[in-house]
Amino acid sequence: MIDLTITEALKKLKSGEISATELARAHLDRIEKYNPELNAYITVTAERAMADAHAADERIKHGTAQILDGIPIAMKDLFATRGIRTTAASHILENFVPEYESTVSQKFIDAGTVLLGKANLDEFAMGTFSKTSYFGAPINPWQIERRLTAGGSSGGSTSAVASGMAMGATGTDTGGSIRFPCSITGLVGMKPTYGLCSRWGCVAFASSLDTPGPIARTVDDVALLLSVMAGHDTKDSTSADIKLNIETPLQPILNNGKRLRVGIIKEFSDVKISDDMKDLFEKRIADLKSAGAEIIEVSIPNILDALAAYYIIAPAEASSNLARYDGMRYGLRVEGADLLDTYKKTRAAGFGDEVKRRMIIGTAVLSSESYEVYFMQAARVRRLIADAFNHAFDQCDLIVCPAGAGTAMPLDSDMTPLEYYALDLFTVAMNLAGIPAASVPCGMASNNLPLGMQVVGKQFDDVRVLQLAKHIEQFANLDNRPTKIMGK
Ligand code: GLN
Repeated sequence: MIDLTITEALKKLKSGEISATELARAHLDRIEKYNPELNAYITVTAERAMADAHAADERIKHGTAQILDGIPIAMKDLFATRGIRTTAASHILENFVPEYESTVSQKFIDAGTVLLGKANLDEFAMGTFSKTSYFGAPINPWQIERRLTAGGSSGGSTSAVASGMAMGATGTDTGGSIRFPCSITGLVGMKPTYGLCSRWGCVAFASSLDTPGPIARTVDDVALLLSVMAGHDTKDSTSADIKLNIETPLQPILNNGKRLRVGIIKEFSDVKISDDMKDLFEKRIADLKSAGAEIIEVSIPNILDALAAYYIIAPAEASSNLARYDGMRYGLRVEGADLLDTYKKTRAAGFGDEVKRRMIIGTAVLSSESYEVYFMQAARVRRLIADAFNHAFDQCDLIVCPAGAGTAMPLDSDMTPLEYYALDLFTVAMNLAGIPAASVPCGMASNNLPLGMQVVGKQFDDVRVLQLAKHIEQFANLDNRPTKIMGK
């Protein structure tokens, strides 16, 4: 049962072939078997899952089923869930139990999903391997004995979905945290247009970049999850008052009358990527061509500066957002001699090294001597990149590019912070520009690990992004069934 896609499971639930209770049980069994090893969940909500499933079965029986009724999902532990601890994978929030529900998780409740638990991540979503989690890193289910990274920061979500411990999951993408983990776990993930999914109740990292989005095993499933997550929210001032018509199954976009113009980014062609990535990317471009797409080279002149701009803007916003964790109102509190000492002791004990590094960088670039030369420069680069994408989308309909340079690396890889940051080269520009980008499997590398590529669109062109991703999914034809990856 755990191999079913969401789309397949919904059909079987509707016809009565399976029940939501059975489906939840199968996933909880799988979690019991594999989570101790994979560490995909920080908190498993087994009782809640069975209660949700029971309620779903009742609705299905009475003909009042909602759009995702009975579908078991994992919620990244960055979304506040009422009555269920929400840690952001940080010691400082280790025992934080919110009294409110994030907008996104509420939408999943309303859609009838079954909550299996809260998925592991990098502390405050800062990282690329989910290694900065206070709860230890999740493991990639592919070649499990090698202990490869499931990516980050949404690495618990990808580990859970790829291993059959959830049918779908939420993620957040500030600089690539949905797309990169999906690309190395054989999954599909979408960073929607900024503002399409509400950030309300989602623990803030860098507010002008943070983007909630869906993760699943197929493009149609991702579209289905996105249709639930998206929507205007008056509680988030940056939420867009736009309703997209996301219909599944997604309709083909190639060879349907109009010739689709697909852009490839000139500046990315000099970036070093693995031979497999290069080879598969070229194969998929050839497929697109044979299917009638016109391939056009476009230029985003400053795109290679996106990393530098991102690693100024994101820490700057983080340093401000994380100032609220002071031991006074909620979260960890370490008593000191006086108020200042309590602040210091609480924050010193509560945050991990990477989070501290970001706050120090962020505070430095916002200081009066650095503001103009660092922060303002980064803001200008951001503007140039966003404008260049707009210009590129005058010449082409959608853009494709790699999602990362290669396959999943061992968790114990010894890299400097800058080497980790460099892994985000292909993803951060889309966050700076606020545009939608999906990662979709493009094939298997010679070491038998999956690789992913991105489809990028202009603002609010999320549906076409997914439509093209679906073609690529079909070309690549990668078998990502959990029992195929891991055995029974
Ligand atoms: N790897 C990037 C970072 O560490 C992106 C993280 C994210 O998207 N949340 O900031």
